[in-house]
Amino acid sequence: MTPLTSPPAGLVPAERSDAPFEDGQGSAVPSPAVPSPAVPMLISGGTVIAPDAVYSPGWVDIRAGRIVGCGAGEPPREPDFSFPECTLAAGYVDIHTHGGGGSSFNDQDSAVAAAQIAATHRAHGTTTLMASLVTAPLDEFERTVAALAGLVEQGLLAGIHLEGPWLSPAHRGAHDENLLRTPDAESIDRIMRVGRGTVRMVTIAPELEGGLAAVRQIVGFGAVAAVGHTDANYDMTRQAIAAGATAGTHVFNAMRQIHHREPGPALALLEDPTVFAELIADGVHLHPAIVRFIIESPSRPVFVTDAMAAAGADEGDYKLGALDVSVSGGQARLADGTIAGSVLTLSEAVRYAVHTAGVPVEVAVRAATQNPADMIGLADRGRLAPGNRADLIVLGTGLQVTATLQAGLWCEA
Ligand SMILES: [Zn+2]
Repeated sequence: MTPLTSPPAGLVPAERSDAPFEDGQGSAVPSPAVPSPAVPMLISGGTVIAPDAVYSPGWVDIRAGRIVGCGAGEPPREPDFSFPECTLAAGYVDIHTHGGGGSSFNDQDSAVAAAQIAATHRAHGTTTLMASLVTAPLDEFERTVAALAGLVEQGLLAGIHLEGPWLSPAHRGAHDENLLRTPDAESIDRIMRVGRGTVRMVTIAPELEGGLAAVRQIVGFGAVAAVGHTDANYDMTRQAIAAGATAGTHVFNAMRQIHHREPGPALALLEDPTVFAELIADGVHLHPAIVRFIIESPSRPVFVTDAMAAAGADEGDYKLGALDVSVSGGQARLADGTIAGSVLTLSEAVRYAVHTAGVPVEVAVRAATQNPADMIGLADRGRLAPGNRADLIVLGTGLQVTATLQAGLWCEA
C-alpha cells in the first residue's frame, strides 16, 4: 500500500482553518487520515513560530515522528496539510500541573489519574506534561513517585516536580502546614533515588535550615532547584541561585513580596538572565501589568498552569492533597480564601497573555514551549526545529488550538 501523502477529500484543513473551533472541541484533522508516524508529512501555515523567527507563510516537514525541516515562504513541495489562515507552533510544554479532567497526580491510583490528566491537557494543545505533587507525608510521596516514575520512563509524562515538603509555613499557599519539613539530606536522597532520575524539579524555600545544602543536593541529582513558597530575602535568594537554583516557582505567588528596602525573592529571580521564572497567567493569580513585567524582565518567563483537578472539568468541591478546595467562577480556593492552584490550560494562559496583558504572540508562545523545555532540559521539545519530536499545534485566529500533532500523530480532540 502506498503511504498516504495527502488528506482525503473533505478533510483538507485549509477549508476548515477558520472554523470557530474552541479548544477541546472539534478536530480539524481526524487521526485516521495519518495512520502512522512513519508517514512523511509536509504542513504549511499562514504563520509559523520558529525558534528565532516568525515565518509568514512557512512550513514544517516531518518524517518518522520527527521534524526534519522548517522554513519560510512557499513549501518545497505540495503540502499534505495546508492551514493558510492559521499559526503553527510547537506543542505546549507544561512543567507545573497538579491535575485536570477531575483527577490529580496525588490521587491513590496515580497511573489512571496521569492518563486522564495528560488527555485533558492534550486536548488543549499540551503535548509535554510534567507531574507536580503537592506536599504529602514522605512515605506517601515515595509511593506516588515510584508509580509515576514508570510513566515518565514510558514517555507519558516528562518528569516529576516535587512541590514540597520543604516549603515555608509562612508562604505555604495550599499546602498542609502539618506536613511541611526542613530539608534533610537523607530524605532528599531517598526520594530522589526512588524517582530513578525522573524527579526533574524540586520547589524549595532556601531560607529553611539546611536549605542551601538541599539546593546543591537537588542540583547534584540533575534536577532543577526552584525557589518558591519562600520567605527568603533578596540576599538569600541570590545565595540560592549561586548554589545552583535556576528557577522561581510561580513568581510573586506564595513568596515574600517586593519592598523597596528589601526586594525579596521576586526581584532577585526576575533580574537574573540565567533564571527561569514561572508565572500563572490566568487573570486570578497576577495583574496583567505584572504578567507584562515578568515577561519583560531579564529572566526567562515560563507559563505554567499550576492546574488542579478541576481544569477541564466541572466546578464544585475537590481535594488538593489533603485539603478541601472549592472551585467556582474559574477560581480554586481553600475555605479561608487562599488561592489553591488554577483551572487553567496553557492555551488559555497564552490567550490571556496576548489578549489581556498585551504580550506579543511569539513571545507568549515561546514562554509556553521552548522556555519550559529548556528549563527542565528537554532537548527535543518546545521548538519547531529539525531533530525535535514532531509536536505541533495549529492555532486559529483567536489563538484557539484547532489541531494537535504529537510525535507525528494527529491527536483526537
Ligand atoms: Zn503547584
